[in-house]
Amino acid sequence: MNNITCCESCGWGNKGNKKEVEQQLKKYDEYICIKCENVWNKIIEMGNSSDELILDKGFIKTKALITSDNIYYHERDRVMDPKTPFLGFGGSWFLVIDKRKPEIYATNNLFHDRRIPEAFQKKIEDSGAINAEIIAVDRPLLENLKKNLNDISFLND
Ligand SMILES: [Zn+2]
Repeated sequence: MNNITCCESCGWGNKGNKKEVEQQLKKYDEYICIKCENVWNKIIEMGNSSDELILDKGFIKTKALITSDNIYYHERDRVMDPKTPFLGFGGSWFLVIDKRKPEIYATNNLFHDRRIPEAFQKKIEDSGAINAEIIAVDRPLLENLKKNLNDISFLND
């Protein structure tokens, strides 16, 4: 086995990162790569304007959904045919609360970007950068939600 230490936040490592690992371990007690460290500091600096943070995923540039412990994003449509290959989280359903718009929507195509390390969680919260909440829902819960919404007679005109 090679001895590459992987970042606790993005999961990536690289060969010969020993010096960086030692330096970051000293700082955070866990290895957070410099790239992630820069992302977290940028988000804290952005605070309330974190909605303007655009993730560069190589083939797509997309808005970051920043929760209290993770960052998520969408690559394509929020809801796609469940038979489509390569859906986020294998096509699992989530409710997303976009706090800024504000908007609440269901998706079966959500992707995970990186975990917010504990060392940054409070700072990010205090900066006001959290712009989303994500709730996992299974099919019965989703059907129940649909029924609940349709049962609000005041909405049917
Ligand atoms: Zn990283």
